[in-house]
Amino acid sequence: MSLESEIKKRRTFAIISHPDAGKTTLTEKFLLYGGAINLAGSVKGKKTAKHAVSDWMEIEKERGISVTSSVLQFNYEGYCINILDTPGHEDFSEDTYRTLMAADSAVMVIDASKGVEKQTIKLFKVCVMRHIPIFTFINKMDREANDPFELLDEIESVLGIATCPINWPIGCGKEFKGVYDRKEKNVSLFKAAMNGQKEVDTEIVDASDEAVLKDRIGDAFYDKLQEDIELLDGASAEFDQEMVSAGDLTPVFFGSALTNFGVQTFLEHFLSMTTSPLPRKSDQGVIDPFTEDFSAFVFKIQANMNKAHRDRIAFMRICSGKFEAGMEANHVQGGKKIRLSQPQQMMAEERHIVDAGDIIGVFDPGIFSIGDTICKSNKKFTFEGIPTFAPEHFARVRQIDTMKRKQFIKGINQIAQEGAIQIFQEFNTGMEEIIVGVVGVLQFEVLEYRLKNEYGVDIRLEPLPYEHIRWIENPEEIDVNRIVGTSDMKKIKDLKGNPLLVFANSWSVNMVLERNEGLKLSEFGRN
Ligand code: GDP
Repeated sequence: MSLESEIKKRRTFAIISHPDAGKTTLTEKFLLYGGAINLAGSVKGKKTAKHAVSDWMEIEKERGISVTSSVLQFNYEGYCINILDTPGHEDFSEDTYRTLMAADSAVMVIDASKGVEKQTIKLFKVCVMRHIPIFTFINKMDREANDPFELLDEIESVLGIATCPINWPIGCGKEFKGVYDRKEKNVSLFKAAMNGQKEVDTEIVDASDEAVLKDRIGDAFYDKLQEDIELLDGASAEFDQEMVSAGDLTPVFFGSALTNFGVQTFLEHFLSMTTSPLPRKSDQGVIDPFTEDFSAFVFKIQANMNKAHRDRIAFMRICSGKFEAGMEANHVQGGKKIRLSQPQQMMAEERHIVDAGDIIGVFDPGIFSIGDTICKSNKKFTFEGIPTFAPEHFARVRQIDTMKRKQFIKGINQIAQEGAIQIFQEFNTGMEEIIVGVVGVLQFEVLEYRLKNEYGVDIRLEPLPYEHIRWIENPEEIDVNRIVGTSDMKKIKDLKGNPLLVFANSWSVNMVLERNEGLKLSEFGRN
């Protein structure tokens, strides 16, 4: 098969959800269809491993299938599908955001009884920034659920994206009767799959067959469905593939991952509506995925937690061409040719071709940084940088033993280079005071642990009250020293000297904008 047709079959997406909405359960059901595992049993209840262990590593251990902490792969009806993990639990960190940079689309899982939740909003914003297609699966319809119209309203108003329901639920909880397919105009009657069962022999009734449908769902639900259909046809957005591809319209599906109801329909529609690997922007123009020359960018660096092994794994998203173990390529930012050895972590060893859309993890002797470009062609280019995502927790950090200053500076810089933390300084002074910013508080613990274990440095963390950070977009146009602030605002700078503002309260951000004409602030920084 040609490289082009291989790449066209590839689908690389991330699943985003608030913890407990059903991401793991839905992933398991996908795998069930893909035949990656035979039985989708429970993989939960093992949240003991504290540090950044994804649920999928648990699946890997349980099932003995090839899973890395970053990507999970399966085949379905000729498609080769990569699901990227976005840890949504206590280990939520900047990695989670960065993983979205490697995906071509996103699946958003929402708990029908909870609606749009906090974690979903944050991840969703990154998808919007990238204009990637977003598909919504409203889960747990077998439980008491919010009104479906209200759920759609919430997605539209909170997330600011138009919705197009592909199917529509009839009842919920104990009274969940099934879903109505708006295009096929038929009703799949709800039947829970037994544990691990793939085929659910749901009965499908033509919606125009009034007598049969009334018999199956009852008169009241029948009447309600007619009303809903009318409302939907009148009020909701029409399906528009172009808008879906641009991330302006999200197709919405209702179902129940646990009972495997609506999952296959979702998977099939999703695969046909989503996209194969897309061209990526670089400083030398757009890089087409079908070009022969290999190119990739680093989106995640994972350090070995074992102090006997200082090595790290750099995860790269392949953007074009084909990867071959042992190949030579240019590490553009490092200005060197490097040999990409046998990947340490790679999906499906039996697969010979690893190409655009795939993820590889290669051994990193400490040369890579997040966002780096690796390309085979001699015409060097760099992919658009990965944004620096806004940390939400800050602390001043000091080493306890002043004699260990050197190790402390080295350690904290290396950990920041991996992207595990962000470090800042006071705006007008030097390195004496180090301020650490993190997306998830667990990262503070990781920092403390790693500095002690890998560098022999004990630290003291003094929490700071700031929660909101803004990069100054136009520092050349304004005098940062003269910015008029609020009492809860502080000026800091990142390692490159870029000025930033941190605030304790979100309303202060607007106040500062009002007080300083011409000032432009951004939630994302550029590497
Ligand atoms: P995650 O944290 O998003 O990965 O969520 P999980 O997949 O671990 O699900 C959280 C809990 O919700 C688990 O106890 C699941 O069994 C349960 N759950 C997931 N999907 C459904 C569903 O469709 N219906 C019901 N009733 N429970 C579900």
